[in-house]
Amino acid sequence: MTMPKQAGFQVKAVKNPDWARDEIILACQLVMDNGWKGLDAQDAKVVELSGLLQLLPIHAEADRNEKFRNPNGVARKTFDIATRYPEYRGKPTNGGALDVAVLMDFLSRPDEMTRVARLIRQGIAVGELQSLAPTDDEVFDDYSAPEGRLLMRRHQAHERNGSLRKKKIASVTQRGGQLACEACGFDFEEVYGDRGAGYIECHHVVPLHEAGEGRTKLSDLALICANCHRMIHRRAPWPTPEELRASIERNHAADRRAAEAIARPRRGACD
Ligand SMILES: [Zn+2]
Ligand SMILES: [Zn+2]
Repeated sequence: MTMPKQAGFQVKAVKNPDWARDEIILACQLVMDNGWKGLDAQDAKVVELSGLLQLLPIHAEADRNEKFRNPNGVARKTFDIATRYPEYRGKPTNGGALDVAVLMDFLSRPDEMTRVARLIRQGIAVGELQSLAPTDDEVFDDYSAPEGRLLMRRHQAHERNGSLRKKKIASVTQRGGQLACEACGFDFEEVYGDRGAGYIECHHVVPLHEAGEGRTKLSDLALICANCHRMIHRRAPWPTPEELRASIERNHAADRRAAEAIARPRRGACD
């Protein structure tokens, strides 16, 4: 028995997916360059951005309908952002929490966010970002990387680059160093024996908006255990391994104090 052919007609999504952080970053940059005012659908910059957004490898083809990020939708988004600008004196149009979050990022770090927008555009223009697989962290939310999902994918591709990791590990062991997590000290071999020997993850400590130009230096990679790596990437801003170490130590100290308080006999209570 053969299955009926699906070809010949296409089911289109009823509603287009919500805008991802990357898309809002590109729209927000347009609004900033336009003096924090919205742009019309006929504007050449809006038409250009509409074409670019349709190229971004973020939303599956099956989730899009024929109006996906068309100039009208892009223009509407620029007004959603512009009417959230703190000095705007009217009622905000629709827009969501993520629009506001990205707008605030642009207001507090305009140079950095402009650079992020440029890197996303460049990465798409040269085809680099289209070839990267989605990362595990994307399933969480749009808040784990202020730079968006696409630069995050590039970050994780760097970190998973096997030859880079091997070189980093070799550079540490050759110096007689221990393959232990720089944040919590976890040593895979110590805990898992042979199975864990030689294993550790690498975290690229250079911020996403600064990485990408030039080659990754071994000194930009930190040795980090799987748990600490997850915790670093979980929410922005990402702590450095040293900052994570300090927070682990603070939590341990608090734990110890609590345990001591319980263990200490309370005077005058019931003796
Ligand atoms: Zn660790
Ligand atoms: Zn990392």
